[in-house]
Amino acid sequence: MSVYLDYNASAPVDGRVIDYMVEVYRNNIGNADSRTHNYGENARNIVEEARKKVASLIGVTADEVFFTSGATESNNIAIQGLREYAIETGRKHIVTTAIEHKAVLETVRALEKEGFVVDIVKPDLSGRVNADDILSKIKKETLLVSIMHVNNETGIIQPVKEIGEALQEKEVLFHIDATQSCGKLVDEIRELKYNMLSFSAHKLMGPQGIGVLVLKKKKYKLPPVKNIMYGGQQEKGIRPGTLPVALIAGCGKACEIAEDEYKKNNKIVFDIKKAIQKEIDESGISYTINGNQDFCVDNTINICFEGVSSEALMLSSKMFCGVSNGSACTSKSYSPSYVLVAMGVPEEQIECSIRISWGANTDIEEAIEGVKALLSTALQFSR
Ligand code: PMP
Repeated sequence: MSVYLDYNASAPVDGRVIDYMVEVYRNNIGNADSRTHNYGENARNIVEEARKKVASLIGVTADEVFFTSGATESNNIAIQGLREYAIETGRKHIVTTAIEHKAVLETVRALEKEGFVVDIVKPDLSGRVNADDILSKIKKETLLVSIMHVNNETGIIQPVKEIGEALQEKEVLFHIDATQSCGKLVDEIRELKYNMLSFSAHKLMGPQGIGVLVLKKKKYKLPPVKNIMYGGQQEKGIRPGTLPVALIAGCGKACEIAEDEYKKNNKIVFDIKKAIQKEIDESGISYTINGNQDFCVDNTINICFEGVSSEALMLSSKMFCGVSNGSACTSKSYSPSYVLVAMGVPEEQIECSIRISWGANTDIEEAIEGVKALLSTALQFSR
């Protein structure tokens, strides 16, 4: 039997979310933007109910929630959508970090080719960027700072709280990629100061293919983001295209469940981490954990088993657990994790590093069995 320990790539959909989505698919036909019949109206009601649930989890108002196809699209809109405003204001400087998801890094690189100036700040071995390093890059031409809340590979929490507070005094827009923290660091997210925030439903046990861009109003005005695709007026024109009603319903349901259960879930996830850590310690294997664990979320361990190639270990342990190295979005070919490289982790340590990630519906006994099997394979390789 194999246990799935790759929740940071995608978490399984909660059964209650599936049931609700199936109900919506079966009983609600129509386009949420059709005004001429009840079918459209019913679809619209489902969408608006979901929007309220998302807003409630994040701590914003429903009119600040915009549905997209996922965090990749949300990040693209948050960044590329500022193109026109940047040209108008002559502010074309962007600050971000070297450990962002490709959906941010590739987007800012594309803008760089159009004449934008991008500062990419590296973290240190702790896996965290320094807030002062980010703030010291700000100049009068700075348009945007884009930083992730939690890194997908290491689980390390970034200083978005401090950065957001410092930026409040300035005219700089602040975007947070909260894909790995949404539904987990619920209280923290509600306290953050930002203009834009992105996430995907599938990381919090919702369906794949639906995400959210939160655009926070300031003095009743949305940030100056424009659509990057052309089409209809859906989502106030910011994200044109027929709304995927059942996916949106699933996203809303996942947010509702996360809001109701996050305290209980965070405790379960923490207990699993302790149990996994205990197995690792008792196995006698030589290891190093990547990133300062004082800043790590409780559902992730990025660990180097000394002298054990991660590729070989993952192949040999496929039958009993699904773990990963690097991000799923860059895993088609092996190249050392750019996140660990940016942190300054030595190459031989990177080659031996894997990411184990789990969620509240991971069975603790199964997780322990999977990790035990992984450890005994790693021990064989390390001899
Ligand atoms: N940002 C982060 C931090 C992520 O972990 C991911 C998914 N790995 C994304 C953005 C992109 O999400 P999606 O593939 O659902 O668009």
